[in-house]
Amino acid sequence: MAGRNAVKTAAQSTKKSTKTGGAKAGIARTSGPRGKRAELAAERAAEILRLLHEQYGDARCALDHNSAWELLVATILSAQCTDVRVNMVTPKLFATYPTPEAMAAAPIEALETLIRTTGFYHNKAKSIQGAGRVIDQHFGGRVPQTMDELLRVPGAARKTANVVLGVAFGKAEGVVVDTHVFRITRRLGLARGETPQKVEQELMQVIPRERWIGFSHELIHHGRAVCEARKPKCSQCMLEPLCTAKDKTWRS
Ligand code: SF4
Repeated sequence: MAGRNAVKTAAQSTKKSTKTGGAKAGIARTSGPRGKRAELAAERAAEILRLLHEQYGDARCALDHNSAWELLVATILSAQCTDVRVNMVTPKLFATYPTPEAMAAAPIEALETLIRTTGFYHNKAKSIQGAGRVIDQHFGGRVPQTMDELLRVPGAARKTANVVLGVAFGKAEGVVVDTHVFRITRRLGLARGETPQKVEQELMQVIPRERWIGFSHELIHHGRAVCEARKPKCSQCMLEPLCTAKDKTWRS
């Protein structure tokens, strides 16, 4: 670990931030044992963020896309599927049905055939066809840029909406909580919620807003490379000294 100085530096920068969530906003005003615990938790979170950014600062969305529309469709297809697999089917899908209007008018069987290998293709075909219809008919053919509007698009729940808002439009309205973020933030003790929605709310309290977008990308890369679901490679993990997971495979 970088040592005590690194923790102090991160903690100091955390306290200076004016864009932090409610939990941090209360830290400076709170004294006594509870305040001390909250301060230590904030210092720990800041150090985790610093180490993640140091390791994966150039992490980007792994879904190939050329527009917000393509990203929306690719994200819908990525449910229960790898990004690599999605990237295999989207070139032909987008070449055949390039716009929301074209996707809305596509025969459902043709869509199913094109996306079959991503799994759950009956539901996904309905979702992307419905997404095309709603965006074409209600949003003038353009992907909307607010959470409320995106949640009206078939197949787009908060995770998909957060991906599109963050990656395509650079807007941080929430934190992407996919399977990696859900698993690792609970292992690290950054969140305790039993659902992605609850974990997202907790993360929005503990992570500075300006890090909401990058944090998810970095953690997803960490989940793929090191903190795997079944057997995390804890001996190779830079977060290990800060990690409280019960299923750690190695302890320093
Ligand atoms: S120490 Fe292990 S469980 Fe904790 S974040 Fe690192 S890889 Fe995951």
